[in-house]
Amino acid sequence: MSNPFPRNYHHARASFLTAAHQAHARLSSYFHPLAGPEGETLATDVAWIGEEDAHWVLVLLSATHGVEGFSGSAAQVDCLQQPIQLPPGVAIVLIHAVNPHGFAWLRRVNEDGVDLNRNFIDFAQPLPINTGYHQLAESILPRSLDAVCLHHCDLQLQTFREKYGTTVYEQALSAGQFHHPHGLFYGGTAPTWSRQTCETIIHDFQLAKRKRLALIDFHTGIGPYGYGEPICDHPPGSLGVTLARQWYGEAVTEPALGTSISVAKHGLSDFGWINLIGDPLVFIALEFGTYPFDSMLQALRADHWLHAKGVIDWNAPETHAIKAAIRQHFYPDHDDWRARVLTRSRQSIQQALTGLANEARRSTRSITHFASLQYGE
Ligand SMILES: [Zn+2]
Repeated sequence: MSNPFPRNYHHARASFLTAAHQAHARLSSYFHPLAGPEGETLATDVAWIGEEDAHWVLVLLSATHGVEGFSGSAAQVDCLQQPIQLPPGVAIVLIHAVNPHGFAWLRRVNEDGVDLNRNFIDFAQPLPINTGYHQLAESILPRSLDAVCLHHCDLQLQTFREKYGTTVYEQALSAGQFHHPHGLFYGGTAPTWSRQTCETIIHDFQLAKRKRLALIDFHTGIGPYGYGEPICDHPPGSLGVTLARQWYGEAVTEPALGTSISVAKHGLSDFGWINLIGDPLVFIALEFGTYPFDSMLQALRADHWLHAKGVIDWNAPETHAIKAAIRQHFYPDHDDWRARVLTRSRQSIQQALTGLANEARRSTRSITHFASLQYGE
């Protein structure tokens, strides 16, 4: 079994396609109109394992935030490399690199600077207003990255944080904003290519017609180093969160109740899927911690500053330094971190499959074959 962690997007795509082929998966590709920094093809690839008409389906989603795709892709490739025997009625669909442009260009956002995980709002309604972000916009995205300017900006942020507290501060920064296109956590003004591709995949694979859909969306960058937090953004008390807790245990957290490392946000991918799938959906984001929030802020502001200048020189030393920092924040280059990602991902996938298999068993009243559901060794 080869190392599932990729060197870059191009390598991740090749590994995914190879592993999917070897697992005899049914493959489909949705091509992005733009190319990667080395001219490479960009696509969201979908692999289906198991019966096409399965009523119980596990969906694995990677690279919603492009640069976070290193670990999500590895979890998917690792899953394809396992000798899984699926029970009757259960299938797995792996959606690789939902935001391939961000993955290839080492950005959290997409080709338009849009955060896909703030883009799932109803654009027919007035755009949400984030007054905290508006107040801090020039300190979040400085005009220059020189030490004096950054120091001044950091003081402004620190003052806000001391005045309003950490939760309000993190909400101002990261809850989503719709009025600063070059800024961080920008939700855009229309559905992005990646959102439309998700909606097309839901339609093409008739995912809304399944009896139960367990979705794991892989993320990195916030929380304790190496810990995988299952975050559930279904409404408190709903069936989705009840099932999530049954399957994944008491580790499940809810931003709406303030129990998560993640604050409540606008326009999450979760909300788009909940809208289209409804009650059959059990959606969690599996968020792997790396370094502190301020480290993320420094990495993101440098990347947004770089791209705000226009077309970038991929081979310039300045680009190398900024891209190395953002990559390191969202994908720590350490074997112990990678090992924790794989172990936790396998555990979560096993928990989801067990939840689906139990429902399928109750529904079909058959107890044969289920003893063979063993993920990994
Ligand atoms: Zn993320």
